[in-house]
Amino acid sequence: MEDNEYERLLDRALSKASALAVQNADFVIPKVDSINEGTKTIVSNITVIADKARRKAEEIARYLSKELGVPVSIEGQRMIINGRFSYKDLDAKIANYFNTYVICKECHKPDSHLENAGRGMLYFVCEACGARYAVKNY
Ligand SMILES: [Zn+2]
Repeated sequence: MEDNEYERLLDRALSKASALAVQNADFVIPKVDSINEGTKTIVSNITVIADKARRKAEEIARYLSKELGVPVSIEGQRMIINGRFSYKDLDAKIANYFNTYVICKECHKPDSHLENAGRGMLYFVCEACGARYAVKNY
């Protein structure tokens, strides 16, 4: 192989690799925008988070309700949590949600959906790589 041909192939391989890295780095788990009001916590960007996850805001509310052990409801563009939580606590829960229910553990892409598998389980279905595996329902 000629030297310059080798370099050309190497260049091409590297540019492919960096294109992939950029594609994955594009996806950032959103941060929670929240304030405490009396005994409640108001999340003002739940629709942004839900859009990013491609899930319904109500689904994420259901997850948080289970995790936090308090009622959580959606009122218009806001999510109302019946209890005082810091944005740090909520960020950690949202990150868990994305890592378990949105981002594929095989290919690390977020293009996915959930199907009911019965018996307290869901199927995580990845639309990018076709992976399909069971996760705990919430
Ligand atoms: Zn995948």
